[in-house]
Amino acid sequence: MNGMKTTSSPMESLLEELVRFHKEAEEIIARRIAEICRETCSACQTPCCNEHMCSEADDSYFLTRIIGADSRKNSGKWFDGNGCMLQYGRPMLCRDYFCDELLVLAAEKIVPVRQFIKDWKLVYKNFASNRSLLVVGPDAMNTARLEKTLVKSEKFRQKWMPPTS
Ligand code: SF4
Ligand code: SF4
Repeated sequence: MNGMKTTSSPMESLLEELVRFHKEAEEIIARRIAEICRETCSACQTPCCNEHMCSEADDSYFLTRIIGADSRKNSGKWFDGNGCMLQYGRPMLCRDYFCDELLVLAAEKIVPVRQFIKDWKLVYKNFASNRSLLVVGPDAMNTARLEKTLVKSEKFRQKWMPPTS
């Protein structure tokens, strides 16, 4: 009936919790990556972003929940000439790519960032039929799988996202 207050289904609540977790992890890693990339990438004449990689965000059911409705959805273009317009919901590949120049300039800083990303991907790995949460569609969603992923996300939190005092 119109006007009735709607409550989230258990599955929606679990998905929202995972979205929250993902965004918090993104905030942490974005800060670390910015320290590595800021100067080099802002002066780069041949940015490595491309539509093929951008479209991984639009193709992911989970990431599109994070990105939300946007007129650019399905355009596969998130690069505006200055940088990525996605604060949240970037493809994991974009978080994990460092060009040869950065690998030389910031090797030591990149090692822990890569470990963070490797562990983060493990949270989503084997979500359904050996496929990551980041690539499956809505049909693969169910409460048991989401609960299992949340348990994995808690372990990740304990290792990489200690509460700030
Ligand atoms: S990662 Fe390397 S190639 Fe990509 S934008 Fe930064 S400096 Fe340029
Ligand atoms: S960082 Fe952003 S603009 Fe660059 S390839 Fe990834 S989604 Fe596209």
